Amino acid sequence: MDLKQGEIIFKQFETGDHAYLIESGRVEIFHRHKNGQETCFAVLAEGEIFGEMALIDSNVRSATSRALTDCKLMLINKEQLLDKLESSDATVQMIMKMLLNRLRQQNQANGGSTFDNLNSNSVIAIDRLKLEKQISDAHQNNEFKMFHQTIIDLNTGIICGSEALIRWDSPKKGLISPNIFIDILEKSSMIIPIGYWIIEECFKHSKLLRAKAPALNFSVSINISARQLLNITFVETLKTLVIKHGVNPNNFKLEITERVLIEGSSVVDVLNSCHKLGFEISLDDFGTGFSSLQYLSQMPIDYLKIDRSFVMNVLKNDKTKAIVSAIIFLSKKLNLKVIAEGIETQSESQIMKELGSHFGQGYLYSKPVELNKLLEIL
Ligand code: C2E
Ligand code: CA
Ligand code: CA
Repeated sequence: MDLKQGEIIFKQFETGDHAYLIESGRVEIFHRHKNGQETCFAVLAEGEIFGEMALIDSNVRSATSRALTDCKLMLINKEQLLDKLESSDATVQMIMKMLLNRLRQQNQANGGSTFDNLNSNSVIAIDRLKLEKQISDAHQNNEFKMFHQTIIDLNTGIICGSEALIRWDSPKKGLISPNIFIDILEKSSMIIPIGYWIIEECFKHSKLLRAKAPALNFSVSINISARQLLNITFVETLKTLVIKHGVNPNNFKLEITERVLIEGSSVVDVLNSCHKLGFEISLDDFGTGFSSLQYLSQMPIDYLKIDRSFVMNVLKNDKTKAIVSAIIFLSKKLNLKVIAEGIETQSESQIMKELGSHFGQGYLYSKPVELNKLLEIL
């Protein structure tokens, strides 16, 4: 939304349907007194939000806002905001309402200087909200792409599959790493639709990859977050998508992290159902977090991925080497196959093979690449 200097954005006592995030320019918030005099109590700049109070407590606007310079504003609509509030914890909702009441009262009493505090405190939340909106737009605009990183059989050196890794191909900023947005995606409900999109992309890609190299029995590994697994229709939807795309679940691994396992028995049920459908299960980032060996015996796990933090130290640190040996020994006893992640050098590849890791993945073999590039490689 573009505004010219001097334009009114909303007026005191109006009802509000939007909050606003300033993308560029400056906005003043002021009270107009009965005699026509104005008291300005906040000047807001890029990255700041305003107009959110009336949305949250469905009260009328407590002040008027006006563009102090030419401005670009992003609209946050009431439904979006209320949706988020309603899905938040009940205690958080209560505290929020209480704070707002207090703020409105204080604001009336002292002419509004408390708005400044509100704004500086909410900058982090705003950044997050802004990024959430950008991520949701990116999905609508088809800016996400699934890249692939090859997984190699260390004994034969032959490619046996790939891990699908999401990238955000932004027209403005170029390729953006998932480290920037995956956390926000996983903590918001967006991971559900985008997660299914990821699965469908992987199904489509698998068909092309397997057709290109029929001899390889190519397997695609799909990262699945806890929130996706806990979605009550996950297994049903997975089944529907398998049928829709005519794929064989045996040609896929679902990569879950140890963190998922602390969700307990409901996750075991979901994983068992996926396993019964024919999907293999791979335990990602093994050894970095909540590892409990108990899980390994209770869960239908086929592969362990040894985290890069072990692989990069295995040649430098004898204790790391001992841990890696022990993990591989244990895996063999439990009938699990091991994939070593983040192999960057020939010597790391060599030592992981010697220690008994079956598979390897890392920049040494290939960085994550676009589907077409992988098809070429094959
Ligand atoms: P991850 O599942 O542990 O993926 C491996 C990460 O290590 C990838 O980062 C990969 O590019 C990087 N990597 C691979 N080989 C090497 C190496 O030799 N050296 C170094 N330094 N790094 C290497 P990426 O693609 O940035 O992904 C980061 C994380 O984002 C992933 O970690 C995963 O947790 C998450 N992620 C990526 N794609 C998806 C997705 O489609 N769905 C979900 N839920 N999470 C995803
Ligand atoms: Ca992974
Ligand atoms: Ca990993």
